[in-house]
Amino acid sequence: MGSAVPSLENSETILIVAPTGQDGHLAATLLAKSNIEALVLRSVAELCDHLDKPHGGVIIAEEAITRENSELLKQKIASQEAWSDVPLILLTSPRRSNESENIPQQLSVSGNISILERPFRLVTLLRAVKVAIRARRRQYQVRELLKHQERALQQRDEFLSIASHELKTPITTLKLQSQLTKTLLSKGDKSVYQPERIDKLIGSIERQTERLARLVDDMLDISRLDNKKLRITPEDCNLSEIVTQVLDTFAQQFQAVGCVVSSRLDPQICGSWDRYRIEQVIANLFTNSIKYGARNPVRVEVSREPLFAVLKVTDKGLGISKEDQERIFHRFERAVSKDNISGLGLGLFIAKEIIEMHKGFISVDSEIDKGSTFTVRLPIGVRDERLCEPNVNLDLSTHIAQE
Ligand code: ADP
Repeated sequence: MGSAVPSLENSETILIVAPTGQDGHLAATLLAKSNIEALVLRSVAELCDHLDKPHGGVIIAEEAITRENSELLKQKIASQEAWSDVPLILLTSPRRSNESENIPQQLSVSGNISILERPFRLVTLLRAVKVAIRARRRQYQVRELLKHQERALQQRDEFLSIASHELKTPITTLKLQSQLTKTLLSKGDKSVYQPERIDKLIGSIERQTERLARLVDDMLDISRLDNKKLRITPEDCNLSEIVTQVLDTFAQQFQAVGCVVSSRLDPQICGSWDRYRIEQVIANLFTNSIKYGARNPVRVEVSREPLFAVLKVTDKGLGISKEDQERIFHRFERAVSKDNISGLGLGLFIAKEIIEMHKGFISVDSEIDKGSTFTVRLPIGVRDERLCEPNVNLDLSTHIAQE
């Protein structure tokens, strides 16, 4: 029961400092009857050792405090972290010795102190302990809040530094290209007018500006998500049609890294989704299969389960360890070092939010060095057969082998 020494794991354990063990154990037994754990300590020095560990407050008998150790206790209380204001319940006697006369005043200078003059009713002690525990609980909540804010600030700083780097890369490339073209033009170099050269330049400008636009879009989406302003506008869509359109826009990028894409797209999978946002999710999965797929073949499938349209994007690239698989769907979380492959760690977080706004699910199945399959499930809802006529030709370019 209360007199058994509990561990200090419980952040609501009351520390009792009573020089005569008997008093302490009596108080602990009383608290145990109200399901309050207590730890009986013999001295102020012992208390000071325990004050930094989780606890719900302190009951201290006046006779445990001497002129010397009251200084130690004051210092200990004064050095608490900003969130902490340990509740002290001081048990005093009406006939105080000279030495202890000023103790309550001394300690109250730096402490959160309640004074109970003996004899007091047990119910009074119990009430004081409950008030102390409640106050301490609030303090621990403040501590958690502060920790959370600290982490959020740290993440914001990291994000700003990565985001600036990410934005700078395409800007630098664009700048270099324009400088080079300007120099060649000023030298009268006619090669700048060669159609292949112009094509290459335009292609590169397009890629860099797309990259910039994607980064800015991700940042805007994060801010919209924070302000609960990201909305979806559902319309009747055919999933394979959307996938085919996105595959088309990515054909060149897959080709550029030598990545062959195969697909099996059931043309009859329809639902009411936000076309633009679903395109965004698919584009993110394709971008990742290019970034992390190690140039290996990528497989895209659209199929149907009783209640869901299912999209699977499978690569045979780096893979993701089991420990990281849940984390990567959180904001700013990445499973690779920023020195290896650049990224903001936002794409999957935004994708998850978008899919969940559609009442769907996104998950990953992956093994390190073997590859990953990202699966998106979107509710099918009401089905209108007329919608299932795809508007685009599902035959894909040479790099996209369709079965
Ligand atoms: P980013 O790619 O900008 O880092 P994402 O949110 O899209 O952001 O992805 C989060 C992390 O998940 C990536 O940093 C990477 O570690 C991991 N990841 C995503 N897709 C894949 C994939 N296909 N293969 C291996 N790892 C992946």
